Amino acid sequence: PYCKILISSCFLGNKVRYDGQAKVINHPVIALWQQQNRLVPVCPEVSGGLSVPRSPAEIQGETGKVLTCDGKDVTRAFLQGAEHALAVCRNHNIQFALLKESSPSCGSQLIYDGTFSGRKINGQGVCSQVLSANGIAVYSEVSIEKLIAVIAHQDSLT
Ligand code: SF4
Repeated sequence: PYCKILISSCFLGNKVRYDGQAKVINHPVIALWQQQNRLVPVCPEVSGGLSVPRSPAEIQGETGKVLTCDGKDVTRAFLQGAEHALAVCRNHNIQFALLKESSPSCGSQLIYDGTFSGRKINGQGVCSQVLSANGIAVYSEVSIEKLIAVIAHQDSLT
């Protein structure tokens, strides 16, 4: 069987983002991976208990807490969503994830700086942090070509 890949649910057209929209990823490999039945979608923010739509949230640099733009602390929901994503990975023996860049949950290289001013800094979202700390390699739409190469190599071994 093909190794499975965790994927941000919004990439597959599911309208789960804070603004009630999706963020479809346009790459031919997605259709192939879907045919191969290897994509396992999650939205850590929704599985952590947050609603759609919801207030945008950013990780605060000083404390690491996640606050919404109106000042509500949603750190717990973000952590619960991350733990759920990790449990999904364990259930499906998943070692690779393709997650939306810059999201406070899913970002793997960049996140917003916590001031809600649109500035990005180097950093990982909460789910990305938990998955990486548990040995799951996280890629994004920016690094998808690297993931494609890694998966092709993985397939060649089986
Ligand atoms: Fe997409 Fe991740 Fe945001 Fe959910 S938390 S909407 S999967 S980027």
